[in-house]
Amino acid sequence: MQTQEDLEPTVRIRELKKDRVNFVLGNVDLAFANSLRRVVMADIPTVAIDMVEIEVNTTVLPDEFIAHRLGMVPLNSSNCEEAIKYTRDCTCLAGCSYCSLMLVLNVACHDDNTMDVTSDHLDLVPFPTDPEQQNPEPGEELTQRGELFGQPVGKHEPGVPPVLICKIRKGQELKMKCTAKKGIAKEHAKWSPCSAVSFEYDPHNKLRHTTHWYEKSIKEEWPLSDNALEEEPPREDEAFDFNAKPNKFYFEVETDGSLDPQEVVMRAPVKQTAPAAPAATSGGVSIMGAASKTASKRPCEEAGSTSSDDSLAKRLEPALRRVK
Ligand SMILES: [Zn+2]
Repeated sequence: MQTQEDLEPTVRIRELKKDRVNFVLGNVDLAFANSLRRVVMADIPTVAIDMVEIEVNTTVLPDEFIAHRLGMVPLNSSNCEEAIKYTRDCTCLAGCSYCSLMLVLNVACHDDNTMDVTSDHLDLVPFPTDPEQQNPEPGEELTQRGELFGQPVGKHEPGVPPVLICKIRKGQELKMKCTAKKGIAKEHAKWSPCSAVSFEYDPHNKLRHTTHWYEKSIKEEWPLSDNALEEEPPREDEAFDFNAKPNKFYFEVETDGSLDPQEVVMRAPVKQTAPAAPAATSGGVSIMGAASKTASKRPCEEAGSTSSDDSLAKRLEPALRRVK
């Protein structure tokens, strides 16, 4: 008979690095595992450049092109949940230090050699405050920020190549002000903290995924991954279990550096159960043009999951701490 312990989700972390985590999630259903994957990809907030005010651009690239590239530069977003407000939740009229960050880019080439303009040239500056407009409800956000919050990821860090924005030649100049805002990847992919999220289940194909379609050989077309070592291979004479369901999932989460993998995975189960955020209202015009509206349905609702995410969050935390 199954005990309560057997039914609770289990987490085993196999590898934890600066930008990736590999873990095995057990005792959950496929819908839950998939909703976790989708939340990790699309619901964890980060900061990214959302508005660009271009003063000078004499490079060969058009303004929109450069603005788009700036949006995709990963910015350090540690503790983004508490450290910055959504612009839509802020009481300011046109951006303030509680909901926006200001980065400037000011580069000119006076050399005969071609010069690379990279994310290292982006400088975080204090958000200009309008003396006319006092924020009536100052929050705790500013005290929750780390030293690097809002800086391009890996700026001046040895061994980390910066993100190339454009190349300029003698006499060309690039001067602009960028406003970074908090957002989620459901609005625009630039806010995703992850570069890749995947999971595998049933490495031995016990559920016979290839029954309805394969080309020549089932065995060759279902090559075994390293995860196959985690499970018993099926016996040749084993009868097919029609009621079998996958319950062990091998996750690999890779981040772009804006958040640690621990933070991404720890926040995800909480987001899965949190009430849906109000749909984003699009105030102001931005060059970046994040077009799509925030979907009102949350991934876990779509997937119809009923597993207990609270207990998963509780299990993840000590496991991640131990590895650290
Ligand atoms: Zn504000």
